Amino acid sequence: MSDIRRDRLHDHYVLIAPERMRRPDTLATTHTEESADNCPFCEGHESMTPPEIYASRDNEPNMPHWSVRVIPNLYKAVQIELDDTSRMDGMFESRPGVGAHEIIIDTPCHDCRFSNLEVVQIADWLTAISKRISDLRKDKRLIYASVFKNHGEYAGATQSHPHTQIIALPVMPHDALKLLDKGLQYYRRHGRGKVEDLLINEQEAKVRIVARRGDFTAFCPFASSYPFEVIIAPQRDLSSLDDLNRDDIAHLARLLKEVFRRLESELGNFNYNLAFRMAPLNSNFENEPYFPHLKKYYRMTIRIMPRIYRLGGFELSTGMLINPVTPEEAAKLLRETKI
Ligand SMILES: [Zn+2]
Repeated sequence: MSDIRRDRLHDHYVLIAPERMRRPDTLATTHTEESADNCPFCEGHESMTPPEIYASRDNEPNMPHWSVRVIPNLYKAVQIELDDTSRMDGMFESRPGVGAHEIIIDTPCHDCRFSNLEVVQIADWLTAISKRISDLRKDKRLIYASVFKNHGEYAGATQSHPHTQIIALPVMPHDALKLLDKGLQYYRRHGRGKVEDLLINEQEAKVRIVARRGDFTAFCPFASSYPFEVIIAPQRDLSSLDDLNRDDIAHLARLLKEVFRRLESELGNFNYNLAFRMAPLNSNFENEPYFPHLKKYYRMTIRIMPRIYRLGGFELSTGMLINPVTPEEAAKLLRETKI
């Protein structure tokens, strides 16, 4: 059973999840790459995972012949529980780790990467995430969903088969709440959303734009935290993946493939984290003031963070990252690279 505890010193939440200690690689001193033979995410190994929650397939569930599969995480950080009452003991505030932790198996192909997936496969992956988000939204206890991918050892990946995770929480993470607040302040001052204005400014500056497809633009942000960091943002007000129509999904899939091909052409098979930032799932006491205005000022983004360097004490103690590659140079290399 996991616990969501409030850290009073640093003013944020922490997930205490003893369940995660049982993951096969935890505490291991050497990293062993599992092969396709014993990989639970490979096609034909469906019986090695819990029953699927969603799949893109034409046949019976939990059989081979699918393009994307979603399963509950066996080593989950949070779980759906009935009791979500918070506890208070002096300064110690905690609540049970109510939530959902799901794994999206991006493709049946063990060794594939985004750069060599078919566009239709990436579109199926986006559709699977979108369907899961709109389903999780129905549970009013779930407030915020983190959707992310870890690829490679430097990025904290523990399974080499391409996969994505969704962790839906009963609280607003501090950073996400701060962004909602700053976003609303910006909107009230300027009458436009921050992402909307950022895109207008990036398009005027041109130097950090990487590629564009349909209503989506990929650029290396002006203050990139990571070398070759890329953000993908929509040109219109789309606050969550489940706001996208079929054309949007097709354009976004094409753009993601292009961006990954360009990144790989420069960096090889690089380690990275990818994170979706989307509007909260539901309203609660923390995000209530922002919720009614979200559609006007909040736009979703996808952030690709290549993990070329490990983080150290400076980064952990200040939250400020040191990036040795200027985003202007990174964007130029990505635009001009041969793909
Ligand atoms: Zn596999």
